[in-house]
Amino acid sequence: MITSPAFAGKSYAVLGLARSGAAVVDALLASGARVVAWDRQEHMREVFAGRCELTDPLETDLTGFDGVVVSPGVPINTHPITPHAQCYHVPLIGDIELFAQARAALPPHKVVGITGTNGKSTTTALVNHILLQSGVPSLMGGNIGIPIMEQAPLPEGGVYVLELSSYQIDLTYSLGCDAAALLNITPDHLDRYDGFDAYAASKARLFTMQATDQFAVFGCGDEPTRKICASEQARRDEARACPIVIDALAEMQPAWPSLQGPHNLENAAVAVALVEELGITPAQWQAAMPTFNGLPHRMERVAEQGGVLFVNDSKATNTDSTAPALAAYPPVDGGKPRIHWIVGGLPKEDGLGPCSQYLDHVAAAYTIGEAGPNFANLLEPHVPVERAELLSEAVKRAMDRAVAGDVILLSPACASFDQFRDYERRGEYFRQVVAALTGAVDTANQGAGA
Ligand code: ADP
Repeated sequence: MITSPAFAGKSYAVLGLARSGAAVVDALLASGARVVAWDRQEHMREVFAGRCELTDPLETDLTGFDGVVVSPGVPINTHPITPHAQCYHVPLIGDIELFAQARAALPPHKVVGITGTNGKSTTTALVNHILLQSGVPSLMGGNIGIPIMEQAPLPEGGVYVLELSSYQIDLTYSLGCDAAALLNITPDHLDRYDGFDAYAASKARLFTMQATDQFAVFGCGDEPTRKICASEQARRDEARACPIVIDALAEMQPAWPSLQGPHNLENAAVAVALVEELGITPAQWQAAMPTFNGLPHRMERVAEQGGVLFVNDSKATNTDSTAPALAAYPPVDGGKPRIHWIVGGLPKEDGLGPCSQYLDHVAAAYTIGEAGPNFANLLEPHVPVERAELLSEAVKRAMDRAVAGDVILLSPACASFDQFRDYERRGEYFRQVVAALTGAVDTANQGAGA
């Protein structure tokens, strides 16, 4: 766990006791702080009975408090905790801000921060992989893996690689990342912001928190990202804020099985810029890239049968993240399209977005879920469509049509909540259906001892 003398004798209210909130309470108590903790679910509160005060911060006089720690899941744009904390001039903070404040007491280390609408987890895991392969002590935290305050501090020379959502950045004020990256900004999560500009401004704050001699790298695929890159170049020495360089990497990409597609080339370029800033040599990162395994549910190859590849891209919950998956499997040698695209779920947007550029890669579409009929109507003028409704039915129908060389791709461009608890459950279900229908062993569901 990460503790700090900086918290000793201070008072915090912690709202939301799921994993990161619980880790915060433990870390603050272990650091000698006074903690008032609350979760609307009683069983979450019970865990802390007898260890701290359990009262709703909304009903607490916050005079003299040093912070209200909220989980990034709390919509601070509409939640009553925001005006309540403002009333007492107490800042709303998150676990990343506490980590930032704890840094001074940690052994000398570096922090990498990675944000963007899409590609954060992949890039974070890739940077961590390259560092570990190069012998640098490193761990991942933030929006990925174990909550940061629960992790054991790294030894001297370690690197904390943080995936940061805009919600987390909104609750952070003093994190000066030694190296930071912005992959892209496209419309998403607009329910939490006062429009697209406010969402982009939230991402931009990761860079304004940096000192001018710290390093930043930017994707170059969209205007809002290029704009933030330009304003950071104006604020510091130009070489400390730069766009990615892709060309040099393109010819190496075929040797990286889990980093296929144009979007992964961008993710790789961001990762390379970050690790080079940390002193990793080209020989080191080139040795590490081929052994990167990718993450589950992101263009994950789950089976191959009769020359048909099954790909689980359940994490693609918007059209911007599905488009690169469609782009990654073009027709071979100018031949027939080969993607059997399973699309739909809980709709987030109306149209096809950038997916419409890649319909010539699609042999047929199989629509599912609440958004299914809308996708079917949009796609029918362009590609053969089967209104499958259920994921299992979609896989069956796709298998009936697919021939050797084809790809059956679950990349729904939608949230999962209409039919599944989350995108992980949806991806796992896809894996199980594929395993059952192909007779392949679903390795992900084998016992650890097997
Ligand atoms: P995040 O953590 O930002 O949600 P992930 O790495 O988990 O990102 O990828 C989420 C989805 O976005 C996947 O479906 C993936 O194929 C797609 N994706 C990954 N990188 C990019 C990128 N650079 N640009 C657009 N889409 C991407």
